Amino acid sequence: MAANILQSWTTTVAALIEEGAEVYAHCGVCSGTWRCDLGRISSTKGGLYSLWNRTTRCRTLVCEGRVWFKATRPGSHVWVQLREGSPVVVERLHEAWRASRTGEIRGEEVSLNPAVEARLGA
Ligand SMILES: [Zn+2]
Repeated sequence: MAANILQSWTTTVAALIEEGAEVYAHCGVCSGTWRCDLGRISSTKGGLYSLWNRTTRCRTLVCEGRVWFKATRPGSHVWVQLREGSPVVVERLHEAWRASRTGEIRGEEVSLNPAVEARLGA
């Protein structure tokens, strides 16, 4: 399967916010779907954070699945799945984010909900 194309408006949380995008997290196991608060992610992770190729633990208590992220922008009915992006391109984004967070990085975590701290990872 070919890698997904990284359109510029999807690359970082700041770009998604500027575009007015909506982002949802989706679990392929239980089909749970949650709207993501981009402002909150930006304030905790920084605007350079990229959701591409990230997964995090599902919020449903009994589910052991992992969620991935999808985005859409105003006036569009097309969802862009922020997964299976070209590893080389995505790693460059993640590296730029890590470089911007030197000294304050606390792990590559994002939470979908204030009550649930979910761990991102491979
Ligand atoms: Zn689930």
